[in-house]
Amino acid sequence: MIQPNSELIIDYELVRNNIQLIRKKISPSSKFMAIVKSNAYGHDLNTTAKALNESVDGFGVVRLEEAIHLREQSDLPILMMQGVYSTEAYDELKKNEIWTTLHSLAQIPLAHQYVDDLVFWIKINTGMNRLGLQFSELDKCKSFIKKSNVLMTHLACADNPDDELNQIQFSKFDEAWKHTGQSLLRSVVNSAGSINFPEQSHDWSRVGIGMYGGLSDMPELKTAMTFRSQIIGFQDLKIGERIGYGGRIKTSRETKLAIVYCGYADGFPQPAMDGTNVRINNHIATVMGRVSMDLISIDVTDNPNCAIGDWCEFWSPDLPINPIAQKNNLISYELMTKISPRVQRHYINV
Ligand SMILES: *Cc1c(COP(=O)(O)O)cnc(C)c1O
Repeated sequence: MIQPNSELIIDYELVRNNIQLIRKKISPSSKFMAIVKSNAYGHDLNTTAKALNESVDGFGVVRLEEAIHLREQSDLPILMMQGVYSTEAYDELKKNEIWTTLHSLAQIPLAHQYVDDLVFWIKINTGMNRLGLQFSELDKCKSFIKKSNVLMTHLACADNPDDELNQIQFSKFDEAWKHTGQSLLRSVVNSAGSINFPEQSHDWSRVGIGMYGGLSDMPELKTAMTFRSQIIGFQDLKIGERIGYGGRIKTSRETKLAIVYCGYADGFPQPAMDGTNVRINNHIATVMGRVSMDLISIDVTDNPNCAIGDWCEFWSPDLPINPIAQKNNLISYELMTKISPRVQRHYINV
């Protein structure tokens, strides 16, 4: 074995396939904005932009550096989804033709100086109560209400289609759009919204997690990242032995334990419970004992034919990330964005 390492392998062909599957759900006239905030949900902004440039209609980010970086690689529309707050930032947007968001009245004095220079997405609060103008505030941004701009909102419960808040948000949005004279383009749905409410996909869908395969509502989407590391040791345990920090679990049978070269400092979740699935040589095995900073212990008693240097997958196209997240009361978004810099990256099918 050469020096072992934890690895993150990203297959962009899978991301593009996921995009095609989601596109089939939404209205054919809805444009597809690939949300690539937070380093493309841990999938590397640069490589993702390169790999997706021909497959999407625009990119959405939340940091100015991300937007400027993207502009060096792509001529597609780029939206700053959380707005900007200084003259310098607005000047950068203008110079780089980057779209921005108006979500609060406090932004108006500065934003107004750029009303003729930039595309603005007017974000209204329809019930999530995070960012967004109140309906009654729309009259104070009349100069922004024009055909080239977009009226947007964000859904709080799109992943739970039965939640009554969805319909409340749709009807508030509709009311606001009518109030603006129906002149603005519209954008409502994120990934879960695209799947559960395709009729709300309007002019722009803003899709993040679904592209990367982390959406539980659509299991046919493939987890595009493989997070894995290698076995560096074994322990053969008798009945009644305790494992790892705190000795939180005790063997109830003779147990073969594989020790894997990866820990929470690589981005594997520290709270991972006993029984969390991993995959070794095409067999499922399970976490046993508390996750350490640099090591994870795995019960391989049922598949003892593994060896030092064999790979242990934590999630991959063959071991979907969502069940792993759900088992541990976590979300796929967090798992994807927390893979640490020391994990070696490999990008395929860019
Ligand atoms: C992150 C984000 C999205 C994408 O959400 P997903 O659930 O990842 O599809 C869409 N719109 C806004 C405003 C966001 O912040």
